[in-house]
Amino acid sequence: MKLYNSLSHEKEEFKPIIDGKVSMYTCGPTVYHFAHIGNLRSYIMEDVLEKYLRFSGYDVKRVMNITDVGHLTSDGDTGDDKMLKGAKREHKTVMEIADFYTKAFFADCAELNIKTPDVVEPATGCIDDFIKVISSLIEKGYAYEAGGNIYFDTSKLKEYYVFGDFSEEDLAVAVREGVDEDGNKKNKADFVLWFTKSKFDDQELKWDSPWGVGYPGWHIECSCISMKHLGEYLDLHCGGIDNAFPHHTNEIAQSEAYLGHKWCNYWFHVHHLNTSSGKMSKSKGEFLTVSLLKEKGYDPIVYRFFCLQSHYRKSLVFSYENLDNASGAYTKLIARIARLLSEPASDIDKTAYDELMNGFKAALDNDLNTSLAVTALYDVLKAETNASTKLALIAEFDKVLSLDLMGHAKKAEEKNVSAEDDIPEEIKALAEQRKEARKAKDFALADSLRDKIAELGYVIEETRQGTKITRK
Ligand code: AMP
Ligand code: ZN
Repeated sequence: MKLYNSLSHEKEEFKPIIDGKVSMYTCGPTVYHFAHIGNLRSYIMEDVLEKYLRFSGYDVKRVMNITDVGHLTSDGDTGDDKMLKGAKREHKTVMEIADFYTKAFFADCAELNIKTPDVVEPATGCIDDFIKVISSLIEKGYAYEAGGNIYFDTSKLKEYYVFGDFSEEDLAVAVREGVDEDGNKKNKADFVLWFTKSKFDDQELKWDSPWGVGYPGWHIECSCISMKHLGEYLDLHCGGIDNAFPHHTNEIAQSEAYLGHKWCNYWFHVHHLNTSSGKMSKSKGEFLTVSLLKEKGYDPIVYRFFCLQSHYRKSLVFSYENLDNASGAYTKLIARIARLLSEPASDIDKTAYDELMNGFKAALDNDLNTSLAVTALYDVLKAETNASTKLALIAEFDKVLSLDLMGHAKKAEEKNVSAEDDIPEEIKALAEQRKEARKAKDFALADSLRDKIAELGYVIEETRQGTKITRK
């Protein structure tokens, strides 16, 4: 499989460190509010990546953190703690907020068929791990204390901007947002590993540390949680593109300074979901959530389908018109699959199966091209082969796409069958007699009853779902 690696800016052949096994880390949500559907675009695409790796035979271990402390309103080290802001907004404790929005996040994921990672670890559960790594960074000369906080010294690194596409200018973000620059930093790019009281007045969650009572920075949590569960060498790290800088850049800086060697081989970044007025965010424009889409009558799976129709490395514009188009296409797709369900079963056509399966794999092997994988699904429907072969392929593809294709198609098919409620009682009674005759193996009677039903203008057939009667 070829995957675009943000480190090399190239599509590379994906080769895990240990043959057949993949260690995968995903930056999890900051649980101060509901996830918006932009956040969820990232999680959908990461879910497809994980599922496709498994589909390709890899044994994947996937870890995700839950940010319940340390993420300030600016991704630099300025502004309020987002969790504290959430708690103030709702007059609750930080832990109540964290608990509520963690559950809400996984409920949204379930609606979108996003699998829960093998390990989910809240930052507040790993304070000792953070202290251990920060202490070591100080010992090794990579971190310093200033104004009561502990900072990572980026000037100690040969290369800090590892993704290559950031400049000193990017660091002025905090200043541009109208928040004071932190005078304690030796270098503009330095970042906080541990905050103490000099950074806050009323922080609710704080812990004792060798540097005073305080709380960890956001970046350190992902490095430590990844190392805790996936060891010193990581295959694959994922997140939204906005995480590349400063978050992932800082994760690499501190992890490699601590370990003394390269840490992660592949960086997978999902581009943004935008609205017509720019990047989707919780504070700007309509706050688009899964619940809101449901309230408006959309099946959340339609949003997943909408996301899969475009490549993860292209920004995607959300509008209700675009979602309506996806919804219409999904309904038609399901109707086509439902029709296959009523066709007679037959042997799998191996040649057609292999050819169509190869098309699907080729799409995903090429940097997880989900839009071409969806095209491969339509290719199955169009193919000159039998229904059983098509249904077998669709069920396999859906292990990766997770569009609940068979479940929805079966429901649609059941609806068709129940449309037979319009069938006159006389015809239904004849069908019942025919069923009894078949049961008694009186096929001559069964056939004559079928002919009688046909004379009255109806067709009777046996399908996987049972007997189907339709008007001629
Ligand atoms: P947060 O909860 O803010 O820590 O973000 C959770 C994930 O959503 C991160 O991987 C972000 O990079 C990602 N993200 C944030 N905004 C968007 C967006 N508009 N489109 C896609 N992903 C996003
Ligand atoms: Zn992270």
